[in-house]
Amino acid sequence: MVKPDLKEWEQLTVPAQPSKSAVDSLLRSIKPPQLNSEAIANRVLEAYGLSGAWRQLGGEREQNFRLVSADGRTLVVKVASVDEPLDSLLFQTEALEHIRRTDPDLPVPRLVRTLNGQAVTDIMGGDGAIHALRILTFVPGNTLLDAVQGQKRSLSAADLLALGATCGRLARALQGFRSDGAPKAMPWDISNRLIFADQVRAHLPAPVAAVAGDQLPRLESVISDILPTLRSQVIYNDFHESNVLAGFGDALTVEGIIDFGDMIHGPVVQDLSVCIASLMHWSDDPLFAASCLVRGYQRFMPLTTEDLSVLKDLVLARMLLQVGLVSYQTKANNRQAPELEQLQSLYIGAIINLSKITSTDFVSRMMPGVVPMPATTATSPVVASPSLLQRRQAVLGSAYTFYNEPLELIRGRGCLLYDSAGNEYLDCYNNVANVGHCHPYVVDTLARQASTLNTNSRYLHEEVVRLGERLSATLPHHLDTWFFVCTGSEANDLAVRLARAATGKQGIVVTENSYHGNTTNVAPLSLIDYDLQDRPAWVETVPPPNLYRGLYRAGTNDAGERYAQHVSEAARRLDNSGHGLAGLMIDSIFDANGALVPPADYLPLAYAAARREGALTIADEVQMGFGRSGTHMWGFQAFGVEPDIVTMGKPMGNGHPIAALVTRRDLAELVQKTTGYFNTFGGNTVSAAVANACLDVLQGERLQDRAAATGAHLLAGLHDLMKRYDIIGHIHGRGLFLGVELVLDRETREPAKFAARWVRERLKSLGVLVASTGPLGNIIKIRPPLAFGAQQADQFLDALHKVLLNLPSQADFAVIKDTSAFSAFHS
Ligand code: PMP
Repeated sequence: MVKPDLKEWEQLTVPAQPSKSAVDSLLRSIKPPQLNSEAIANRVLEAYGLSGAWRQLGGEREQNFRLVSADGRTLVVKVASVDEPLDSLLFQTEALEHIRRTDPDLPVPRLVRTLNGQAVTDIMGGDGAIHALRILTFVPGNTLLDAVQGQKRSLSAADLLALGATCGRLARALQGFRSDGAPKAMPWDISNRLIFADQVRAHLPAPVAAVAGDQLPRLESVISDILPTLRSQVIYNDFHESNVLAGFGDALTVEGIIDFGDMIHGPVVQDLSVCIASLMHWSDDPLFAASCLVRGYQRFMPLTTEDLSVLKDLVLARMLLQVGLVSYQTKANNRQAPELEQLQSLYIGAIINLSKITSTDFVSRMMPGVVPMPATTATSPVVASPSLLQRRQAVLGSAYTFYNEPLELIRGRGCLLYDSAGNEYLDCYNNVANVGHCHPYVVDTLARQASTLNTNSRYLHEEVVRLGERLSATLPHHLDTWFFVCTGSEANDLAVRLARAATGKQGIVVTENSYHGNTTNVAPLSLIDYDLQDRPAWVETVPPPNLYRGLYRAGTNDAGERYAQHVSEAARRLDNSGHGLAGLMIDSIFDANGALVPPADYLPLAYAAARREGALTIADEVQMGFGRSGTHMWGFQAFGVEPDIVTMGKPMGNGHPIAALVTRRDLAELVQKTTGYFNTFGGNTVSAAVANACLDVLQGERLQDRAAATGAHLLAGLHDLMKRYDIIGHIHGRGLFLGVELVLDRETREPAKFAARWVRERLKSLGVLVASTGPLGNIIKIRPPLAFGAQQADQFLDALHKVLLNLPSQADFAVIKDTSAFSAFHS
């Protein structure tokens, strides 16, 4: 593949508001001056004290020489045209000085100052005109173009990642550089709407105009309406194969970046778009190449969603600009145009492909999982994906989707979620994203560890050991030995095995309507999903301690004791069936029962009852662990009990699958001695690093305290609503785990199941996500990320208020009853 060097158009300046004629003059090339070389050598000796071996170099706008000075340095002496404003030369040299300070190892030219410390000096031409003269160090090496052509190879993923990373690193090094000398307008600036609209349009060669002409109005509107709103800084704006010096050893190494003449102050993402537009062709799969460049770039310069949303259009705009400018220049100079031909044939395929693909699809190709908000300009319509549900059902069946009309979520940040149509939702439901969706600290840790080492749990590694140590410090002393697994189900499954191994018995007691997981061992303990008649005889249930509508209600004397009594009775039944009681497994928030707060003595008495039978006590902290109660790290701690086994999962990795079981050393050894236990992924390096990062955030952002404060605020607001709306029968829960129980009649407590579903759906349409849950389906479950604050709580309360204000009558609920898609769900 022959790639022309198109470095013909250099920086030219025009007044701040370029007029059409100024644009014309802007597009006229400045010629390099032709001073007497002896005069230049004399001036350099005088101003810099330098002499040596001189060699003339090429140059489009400057007269350049290579000087190997007497002290052994190789330098480039540059004499500018009289038309070149001094400000813009100083801007370039100051930028190089800035990079020297911010990233001294970046291989860019260094400024050589005159004997009296000036960055630029002057020299008089034979005609008496004054020219600027400056000296930079020479950066040795082959251009990437030469390197690739010499090797006759296309760029690999690793090469492209390295190149993208260099582009990002350079952008990062330029951050904070401010100068009044940045050119106000220059031809290679895609964000210059005037050039794009008035010149490129007019000069696009016919074959390119035929395939991309219809893109121009949209590109112009992106340039004029969106680019000015993006974050900007001084950018290099010229990252292409003739300006990057590179060598190939085992892998590509970037040895230099030269030519800082196209720098501007412009949108950060524009820099990357130049890099992609130039380098994507050097791979057999240009879109994959672009994706590598984007990823490499983001190692140093994470892109915002807004940046990503315009990336495809900027890449396309850059290619069109390049073709248009070369075409213009060819015509203006009345030249033969082999470059134009080559450029067109090189770019045409990419231009066609980029014209066809939507920005959303482009970004999801670049960064799977990261989908930008659809652009909001009228000219770029939102592209819906109506068939996703059918496609999902075709491959996954119709299992478990939320809501009447399932949501296609594409992005999350903190407590907010976004769907594919660009709607924003306040997430009041997801405890998986415990420290907030896509928490940057967690994401950064994940990316770093994933790019360092990810392997199985058989090797020594600091992260998993540190995780165990840190978690142990939050738990009763005797809980000191860890099994890291991937899901809460696995942790509970192992807990059942442990209890059986330790007691020699088989029976497990759980509360009615509980959920503990999906493996063969624990599915029968997940009674909301299990038909009672199919329940194996080794499972026994006890009534959940529901003081609102349970067997013993608030006001009943000794309600805790009475509920706990059922554990002994269940143990009797298990003895009678020959299974005996091996373990009592309790989730201290009774999640699937609607976030119950048991009587204070219930857990201690239930544990005591189990222990009297010689059984183990298992605290399932998959829901309530990691600070959600607001008062304690673990849900059971509020009741002063000390379980034999604790299991945890869901919030542990903020969405990354990691879960764990902790127990006493003697019990752990028992399992290892009998059946043994190995889990390939459990506690792998990445998962452990992520879980540690979640702990860092939990502690660093004091999220447990936040859960306490926001939970109290939310509870108070809900109690206010309860005063106004009879449909609220009771408010369950603690910390940031609340259940609002809806009833048709406060006296009879008749459950308002369809109202709960209606409220859930209405809240969704107001941009608030909750679930309806509970055995009767009449409880609104509120369980947001712990990043939830008072402001989010108020937003939720306002929305709930609106919904309750417009609640349909009971008769209308009867109609709703007929809509089969409503269902209570659990997770
Ligand atoms: N225990 C409880 C209390 C749960 O709520 C769940 C999941 N909802 C589990 C265990 C199972 O966890 P996982 O889905 O990670 O297997």
